[in-house]
Amino acid sequence: MTSKMRDWLDRNSGRTYGNYIDGEWISSSSGATSALYESAMPDRLLGQFACSDQADVDQAVAAAHHAFQTWRLAPPSEKAAILYKFADLLEHHREELAYILSAEQGKVLTESFAEVARAAAEARFAAGEAFRVEGVTLPSDNPLVRSEVVRYPLGVIAAIAPWNFPVVTPVRKLAPAIAYGCTAVLKPASATPWSAVRIIELLAEAGLPKGVVNLVTGSGSQVGDALTEHPLVQGISFTGSTELGLRINQIAAARLARTQLEMGGKNAALVLDYDNLPFAADQIVNAAFACTGQRCTAISRVIVLPSQAERLTELIRERMEALRMAPAWADGAQVGPVINERQFQTVNRYIEIGQQEGADLLCGGERIEVNDPYFAEERQGYFLKPALFANVTKEMRIAQEEIFGPVLSILVAEHTDEALAIANATDYGLAASVFTSSIRTAERMAAELDSGMVHINHGTASQAHVPFGGVKHSGFGAYSIGHTNQEFFTQVKAVYVGR
Ligand code: NAD
Repeated sequence: MTSKMRDWLDRNSGRTYGNYIDGEWISSSSGATSALYESAMPDRLLGQFACSDQADVDQAVAAAHHAFQTWRLAPPSEKAAILYKFADLLEHHREELAYILSAEQGKVLTESFAEVARAAAEARFAAGEAFRVEGVTLPSDNPLVRSEVVRYPLGVIAAIAPWNFPVVTPVRKLAPAIAYGCTAVLKPASATPWSAVRIIELLAEAGLPKGVVNLVTGSGSQVGDALTEHPLVQGISFTGSTELGLRINQIAAARLARTQLEMGGKNAALVLDYDNLPFAADQIVNAAFACTGQRCTAISRVIVLPSQAERLTELIRERMEALRMAPAWADGAQVGPVINERQFQTVNRYIEIGQQEGADLLCGGERIEVNDPYFAEERQGYFLKPALFANVTKEMRIAQEEIFGPVLSILVAEHTDEALAIANATDYGLAASVFTSSIRTAERMAAELDSGMVHINHGTASQAHVPFGGVKHSGFGAYSIGHTNQEFFTQVKAVYVGR
């Protein structure tokens, strides 16, 4: 029995990692560390990571602030060259990054490889953006004065990331920060600090000057508050739960700091007279259970008309029952464990709530023991069989609240208007899919769905150059990923140039 991932982890687990401040790896000011365990094998230690506090945040922000004074003036070719090199390094080290990612997060290796590739693509797009910072020249009322509107880097950015995409989310924040001439302090989720450490090592290897990007690991309450409240932090790019995003926004607003908030979702797939139901079912199941349903854009509600409800439900159920649940390293693994016990308890509670609310649990919803040679003598992680609920109504909590796990609900709408009303009847507005053979219905849904992203006739997969974001309680501030990032990372200035 051999697995390259297991062999690699055996050789590389158990080290202690510090913070990265002003180009140096240093332990936290208190010297405290916190142990990180593997998602699929919760007794296996992966490493010890710095537990930071206010003093460490102060030091990291001071370094970023100092570095900003020169980095803001760096030529675009220098920033782009570093980011292109970084993208190459991500690809060069993709195996090891995928092992780290899968070990701490639990997702299957095929998804981890795809995440690393996506991070490299986003870094390359950001590299090009360094050359595309746009300004305008406006007509002048005074023939002796030229009026310009130019963009300057915003300043020190706090990059606060969640645990579900521990490679791509930090890169999604740091690469544009670098490209637009900002400096940054990254605070990864406490459940996934190892990927962040490796990303920072690769940025340093790519030649990023000291202080431009700093890393502070630790608990959200200690490090997060210190960062969002820090007067030298000009912008906070946060990805995480809506509850925390709202809190961060309040703190930032009080001191007029800028925010880019990417928060929760309750994403719907509307199936409205579609002539290829097997394809819709493939797309829905993939979008619902990739990353074990722990994606902000995971489809968690299917809204279907009565004429297609029974057939679609059956097709979805068949596909869900065929999903291969296995640890990341196993051949053909499709769905890994939910990340940890805490998340398992949360998802489990929603499965109970759904049943209490009167929805029908058609399949899944139970924890299973997975058969894998490496589990012979190991406690295994939280493999939760994807759950499918039918007879769900729009008022139910399972149809309203973000579950963030492998649970899918089917709701039946009498007609297209009602389907649209149900889709819009949540506090969230991140992504939606519409499956329809009618171009008219497609256009109408694209226009009327309260959703930051609408996917017609496919699942909720985004691309590495297209703006990404949500409305209502799913997003606030400039969209990330695409050219819209410029609105967050740069500041407009009016300049009048006399002759
Ligand atoms: P979370 O909100 O619990 O944590 C996000 C980050 O905030 C972590 O790094 C955490 O340590 C930090 N944090 C905790 N307390 C803080 C505080 N007081 N101040 C500042 N930061 C603090 O989210 P999570 O559980 O890591 O991730 C899951 C959530 O993220 C889901 O709601 C999901 O929808 C959302 N998410 C959204 C997107 C998107 O693009 N819209 C993408 C991925 C995940």
